[in-house]
Amino acid sequence: MSHDRISRRSLLKGALLTLAATPAASLVARDAFAAAPLVDPTETQAVGLGYTHDATKVDPKARPTWKAGAHCANCALYSGAAGAAQGPCSIFPGKEVKAAGWCAAWALKPGAKLG
Ligand code: SF4
Repeated sequence: MSHDRISRRSLLKGALLTLAATPAASLVARDAFAAAPLVDPTETQAVGLGYTHDATKVDPKARPTWKAGAHCANCALYSGAAGAAQGPCSIFPGKEVKAAGWCAAWALKPGAKLG
């Protein structure tokens, strides 16, 4: 009889602990999929490459390799998902760039078009 009581108590305690731990576990899982930080255009490497979050603001005189319609989303070094606002770039490991961004390392992604 008392063995049954202990078992029920243990079962109830375990269920309560599971319920209490569920929100914490979901927070950890959500953080694991959080986006990497955006590249800061003022950091040294970004400045050197003329990185900007908005390719339409590139001064073609200052950056003669820039082409109209070139932006991170159609760059070979960009690996963001299609349609995403930002994504990873192999030039800036551990960070993300804007799909609409641009830098002097831009190269047309195979099969992509300018624009
Ligand atoms: S290398 Fe390509 S994807 Fe990376 S910042 Fe420059 S233009 Fe954007």
